[in-house]
Amino acid sequence: MTYIVNEKCINCKYTDCVEVCPVDCFYEGENMLVIHPDECIDCGVCEPECPPEAIMPDTESAAEKWITLNAEYAKIWPNITHKISALPNADQLQEESDKYDRYFSILPGDGN
Ligand code: SF4
Ligand code: SF4
Repeated sequence: MTYIVNEKCINCKYTDCVEVCPVDCFYEGENMLVIHPDECIDCGVCEPECPPEAIMPDTESAAEKWITLNAEYAKIWPNITHKISALPNADQLQEESDKYDRYFSILPGDGN
């Protein structure tokens, strides 16, 4: 089992999730984070720290669609280990649907 990040993360970057992860297994895209499935130790402490509720265990049925995306992009995006500023429209876009189709970017973030 691992935890995954779903499309609710797109355009967020509050990164409270990153701050609490004991093994630094978040990776940063231009507008979304993912979790490395081989590094996550399933502690679950990041889940309640995520305001848009984008983090969930991969055992939930709603997580299935995002397992491959997390695994793929965790290999190519840079590691992020410290909290950064949220994206400018994070609050406004938090409740939007279909964020993947509308906003997902394959580009890497800066990492830190
Ligand atoms: S708090 Fe949640 S939505 Fe925001 S960056 Fe972290 S995982 Fe993504
Ligand atoms: S479940 Fe634990 S190890 Fe996995 S990403 Fe969240 S904080 Fe990190």
